[in-house]
Amino acid sequence: MPAADGALVLFSGGQDSAACLAWALERFSSVETIGFDYGQRHRIELDVREDLRRTFAALRGDWAARLGEDHMVPLAALGAISETSLTREAAFGMAKEGLPDSFVPGRNLIFLTFAAAVAYRRGLRHIVTGVCETDFSGYPDCRDDTIKALQVALNLGMEKRFVLHTPLMWIDKAATWALTEEIGGAALVEAIRVGTHTCYAGDRSVLHEWGYGCGRCPACELRAAGHARWRAEAVTEGPSA
Ligand code: ZN
Repeated sequence: MPAADGALVLFSGGQDSAACLAWALERFSSVETIGFDYGQRHRIELDVREDLRRTFAALRGDWAARLGEDHMVPLAALGAISETSLTREAAFGMAKEGLPDSFVPGRNLIFLTFAAAVAYRRGLRHIVTGVCETDFSGYPDCRDDTIKALQVALNLGMEKRFVLHTPLMWIDKAATWALTEEIGGAALVEAIRVGTHTCYAGDRSVLHEWGYGCGRCPACELRAAGHARWRAEAVTEGPSA
């Protein structure tokens, strides 16, 4: 029985946010999505969002009934102030601070603050985001403490009782695939494999075992490695009873 409260899912069209959308559709009676357009180079991620929402609704009748509006927030200012490879044709690599140069400082703080403002106006109590400490490059705005501190700040600043959910916080990419299979079986895995986009280069020319992408950028490498590990673990463990 899903919770009567509504949820807002930060939905970029990537693998993690798609897994979060499925997670939320299992739990909440009404689920809306929000995306941000800040001129990212992988604009394709935004373009796949509507297709994914349609695919999810087609997978399950109860999900179709729960899936509500999509909100697209233009954040051109974020693109304008950032100097990173996501928004400029810069080489990938690590900045001297040890952060990937795809890093947009404080991006998730801004996204979650806008999400809370939309959730407030839509009467939605739960905010779901696919940030993760486990697998990635140490983005400080993806850390558990950051999210918990922001939940406190948003609740104080908006006089609300929002709950920020991070279902992927402590699991790696292999476990995200496993979670996807647990929620929606092979059909959901396939919808996410084919329908989501995470490649920094915006390449959708080749469908790999792990999905579309250039296969060389950090996002593709992470996604491919996670998928391979998940397959290997599934073989080791055998089919679940
Ligand atoms: Zn790529």
